[in-house]
Amino acid sequence: MLERLDQCRRCPRLAKHLQALREHYPEHHNAPVGSWGSTRPRLLIVGLAPGLHGANRTGRAFVGDASGRTLFEALYQAGWATSSDPHAARLVGARITNVVKCLPPENRPNTAELRTCASWLAQELDAFLPPRRRTPRTVLCLGTVAYQSMRNALGLPTARFAHAAAEEVDDSTWLYASYHPSRQNVNTGRLTLEMLVHVLNRVRDATT
Ligand code: SF4
Repeated sequence: MLERLDQCRRCPRLAKHLQALREHYPEHHNAPVGSWGSTRPRLLIVGLAPGLHGANRTGRAFVGDASGRTLFEALYQAGWATSSDPHAARLVGARITNVVKCLPPENRPNTAELRTCASWLAQELDAFLPPRRRTPRTVLCLGTVAYQSMRNALGLPTARFAHAAAEEVDDSTWLYASYHPSRQNVNTGRLTLEMLVHVLNRVRDATT
């Protein structure tokens, strides 16, 4: 029988971490978090991993914490979501996921965990990029680790991360990069709402 994502315990350190969190935060999701959003997406947004009080609490990637609030404000302004409130929003032509599906301690998955979880990411990528697709599709990676992981999943060589970098992977696939909308990046001004909206507008133009 095929293993289900919500039952995956392949990473011992992360499984142990989630087990401990079940005692501290019994109301939290505390389990792997997969992709969610449109069933016919043109855009796949990929972050790093669930946040403690974000996806790890709500069970939905980028719902419940500061990163999600910034992301959904930008998605709404660029027309990819029906609301700037992550709890109320429906994604329009987009899905959201993370490269690592379980919350890592200190938000840092190790190399082995990135490699192990890559099979779940590959499944999501296969569903997002069916062989005969009529419309172009874009993967938008938030942050360096997501960007390099996705390059690996797409069979591309490692490349230097740059905000707003865009690459045509093939005739119908684009790869975009943005700084992660983390509280730190937003508070330091590394990423502004306008910068993220700009990237999302460019993605929309590339996929229509
Ligand atoms: S991080 Fe991924 S591979 Fe590791 S236990 Fe969680 S779902 Fe499984």
